Amino acid sequence: MTAPTRTYLEADIKCFHCGHISGVARVERGGRHPTTTFKAVDSSAEIRIPDRTQVKCQRCGGPTFTDEFELRQEYARVDFLEDRPRRGRPPKRLAERRLAEQQRGVA
Ligand SMILES: [Zn+2]
Repeated sequence: MTAPTRTYLEADIKCFHCGHISGVARVERGGRHPTTTFKAVDSSAEIRIPDRTQVKCQRCGGPTFTDEFELRQEYARVDFLEDRPRRGRPPKRLAERRLAEQQRGVA
């Protein structure tokens, strides 16, 4: 198992007036000062916001509220095709060859 690189709470930001979802609020967990970010629906950028109640509806400019927060975890991307040295014990054939080489060296 790989440890998550990021753990946060995420909730939709909905409009009180028209119900439009403007984006999501993310609250970082851990640390004494949890940071809140806002990510608009049509954007991939997260903006740090001091107070999520300050986010206005992107459609009508009305006040918003956050829906239920859900726990989200991001993991580092693993490239399974990447050719890198394997961890752990070497394959049996390699171990046998090394042993044979050692014995030859001693003899
Ligand atoms: Zn609205």
